[in-house]
Amino acid sequence: MFCIAPLIRLRAVCISPNLLRGSSRRRLLTTKVANPPTVAIVGGGAAGFYTAARLLAKLGTTTIDIFENLPVPHGLVRYGVAPDHPEVKNCMTKFDEVASNPRVRLFANTPVGTNVDLAQRHPAMPLTVLRNIYDAVVLAYGASEDRKLGIPGEDGQGGRVGVVSARMFVAWYNGLPEAQDVELDLESYDRLVVVGHGNVALDCARILLTDPEVLAKTDITRKAVETLRRSRIRHVEMVGRRGPLQVSFTTKELREMTKIPGLQIVCDRQLLDSQCASPEGAEHLAKSRPLKRMMEILQKHAVSEPTETAERTFTIRFLMSPLEMVYPDGLPQVMRFRVNRLEGPPAKARAVPTDQTTDISCAMALRSIGYASAPLNECEFDPVRNIVPNVAGRVVDRNGELVRGLYCSGWVKSGPVGVIATTMQNAYQTANAIASDIDSGNIAECPNSRSEVDDQLSAQGVFDYCVSNSDWKHLEKHEFDEGRKLNKPREKVTSIDKMLRIMKPEL
Ligand SMILES: Cc1cc2nc3c(=O)[nH]c(=O)nc-3n(C[C@H](O)[C@H](O)[C@H](O)COP(=O)(O)OP(=O)(O)OC[C@H]3O[C@@H](n4cnc5c(N)ncnc54)[C@H](O)[C@@H]3O)c2cc1C
Repeated sequence: MFCIAPLIRLRAVCISPNLLRGSSRRRLLTTKVANPPTVAIVGGGAAGFYTAARLLAKLGTTTIDIFENLPVPHGLVRYGVAPDHPEVKNCMTKFDEVASNPRVRLFANTPVGTNVDLAQRHPAMPLTVLRNIYDAVVLAYGASEDRKLGIPGEDGQGGRVGVVSARMFVAWYNGLPEAQDVELDLESYDRLVVVGHGNVALDCARILLTDPEVLAKTDITRKAVETLRRSRIRHVEMVGRRGPLQVSFTTKELREMTKIPGLQIVCDRQLLDSQCASPEGAEHLAKSRPLKRMMEILQKHAVSEPTETAERTFTIRFLMSPLEMVYPDGLPQVMRFRVNRLEGPPAKARAVPTDQTTDISCAMALRSIGYASAPLNECEFDPVRNIVPNVAGRVVDRNGELVRGLYCSGWVKSGPVGVIATTMQNAYQTANAIASDIDSGNIAECPNSRSEVDDQLSAQGVFDYCVSNSDWKHLEKHEFDEGRKLNKPREKVTSIDKMLRIMKPEL
């Protein structure tokens, strides 16, 4: 199944025999050169760049082409990571180093897979074509969908926006073109609900509760700051179905909430304290230092009831599952929740519904219950785990057989969990698998030289519309220049048309 004869990738040197004489003629005519292996990476996010970085380090001659859907690279590092976390974005320096290596080329504005929405701009490159051109293809296209709550009223009613995905909210403040028209309601009422107990939920709450003048100095878009200046939201309720010992946010993000001036953190102290002090709770916390530290921070900072003068509050609500969004006449919309109780030991606690319900009035709600990858046409996909099925980065088909020459990396390989450091390790594992398969000849049989690759890309029209690394650097300089005028690191261009006008005026 995965044991084929090593690839023979020899090509005769093309020199006119008339130019050669005697032994040099004999020697040169029999000389063959090996084409360096060619790798295509689908997705120019963290996983794509870290896979490329590792391949560059491990394989001396391999050339790598990165195909990115958007006209700009860097995926969620640009469009997910919060604007007030600039240090996290330092990895872009590493990505720049990779992209400027002569063995790497960026083909942005070049979606792969025939079912990609943004392919409206021009036809997407079919995956089968890519697989015929390159020795190895790596799927690193991330997780660009999110899960819905599936409750009545979720999609809004009579002009009320209902529940908006946190993914779109994050993408909106970070300047993703497709999120710029997302409908938000930050002005009709002072309270907003975020469903979910993870770091993305905390990012949303922090952005909504931070002074917009502080954010204005980051790379958040100017339009988002203007909207946040008008926002009436002063109280964010972060709701999760389980208890304090089951939260999935991390210490750094919680600590940041404690540093927002004038913000009171609120939670059910009785529940928090009793869960931490119970024998099972104490045993569970003894096994996880980060969780223990987080509970200590909560116990130090959270109050059960906010003071009457509290200007801003951040309330963490436990044991509640959304039931429906209700739209009473002339009042803020109301999110109704089922109250849960916990069953089982803390590590595996399940939320069991009770017959009690509770309501929260809010301007709108954000759902932050996870990102999800979408299937690409012409590729295996596991619809239950929402990943490309794989064994340590080697794609497998529905029978569990390895698909020769096809790999995956990053969130599409592992599911949408983990930070950039884990994505890097995940990408290194895939690159190691590719390097080992190339060394042993267990890759697809496409012994194309780079110029033969280019002939085939050209036949697909790719060179007519692709955005290169130097085009992207030109746009980035524009963003830096605009940012300087506004006393911020960069001002992102938020429309694809404008990006392309700046980078490729000839298009
Ligand atoms: C809101 C949010 C905040 C985060 N904050 C932090 C943080 O503070 N610190 C931290 O360490 N980690 C953070 N992370 C995690 C980090 O962003 C991920 O670990 C990492 O970005 C995953 O990388 P990836 O390459 O798998 O996916 P992505 O970054 O999503 O990259 C996938 C790329 O593929 C492209 N693509 C999609 N479809 C196609 C296609 N068909 N053809 C070609 N290209 C395609 C996309 O445009 C994208 O550029 C955050 C994540 C989120 C969602």
